[in-house]
Parts: sequence; structure tokens; C-alpha cells
Amino acid sequence: MGAALGQCLFPHSPLCQGLTILGSIEPDLVLVPKFAIDKLRGRQPFATQSSKLMLLKELSHSLPINTLLLIVGLAMGWTAIEAFFVGTGVHILVDALTHCGIEYRDTDQSCVWPFQNRLSKLGAMIGIWEYRYAPGVLIPKPAEAVILTVMIAIILFRHFV
Ligand SMILES: [Zn+2]
Repeated sequence: MGAALGQCLFPHSPLCQGLTILGSIEPDLVLVPKFAIDKLRGRQPFATQSSKLMLLKELSHSLPINTLLLIVGLAMGWTAIEAFFVGTGVHILVDALTHCGIEYRDTDQSCVWPFQNRLSKLGAMIGIWEYRYAPGVLIPKPAEAVILTVMIAIILFRHFV
């Protein structure tokens, strides 16, 4: 997803394309150690999460923080910052569209930190498909598939027209 987005938005900048890819995976990097520990111990990944991990997940998946940093990047003309936070933003939006199962509500990030107490979780508001109901994490989620299809169409249009 990050690669297609970077190619769409920054077709002449490999650096910005790389930063968009990095941004699109950055929100989940805080989860890697917990996932590995749960798997090594034979537990269901993320069935239990500490308050520290929940806070890190909220911070890395905060659409308000991401939007603020993206606006700063745009205002300052820092294309590299813009590329990174565009990637992060699309990750957060896809997570919100695909994290909506009621049984996961207590352990899913809100995506609206620090406004999670005033707003509901974003997944509860705009979620359209719960990805954990489908087998395999490497299969594109429907929301990802739609976004990817649009971006690939844009890339092909730019290339051939
Ligand atoms: Zn995520």
C-alpha cells in the first residue's frame, strides 16, 4: 500500500517513495515485540495488552497527531515529512476501516488519541470490515484492495497517458 501510494504521490522522488513506505508500516512497529513474545509463548497475539503498549499503540495510530504533523510538513514545504505522514495516515485510515469487531473493541486502538474519551473508537464509527474474520494477514483487506486498485489505476494512467 505504501509503495503504491508513494509512487502515486511522489513519482519522481525515490526518497519520498521510501519514506511513504516507512510511514505506512511505522504505526505497527510498536506491536512487533509483543507479537513475537505471544507467538513464542504459544499465546493468541494481543489477547492481553499492558497499559504501556496500549498507550504506544494509541500514539502511533493517532490520526489527530498524524494530521497535525502532516500539516506542519505541508506548511513548511518539507516534502520528506509530508511523504512519511501520508504513509502513516493511510495506515491509520485502513486500520480504522478494518478494526471494527466488537469483541476486539477493548484492545484495539481508538485512532483518535487524545480524544478517545470524547469520541468513540474510529473503527466503531467508520469500520466496514473486520480483517480478523478472514484467514491470513497477507491477503489484502477489502478496504486495502479498493485503495490499491485506485492507486494502481492512477499509476498506469500516468505511465501510459
Ligand atoms: Zn496498525
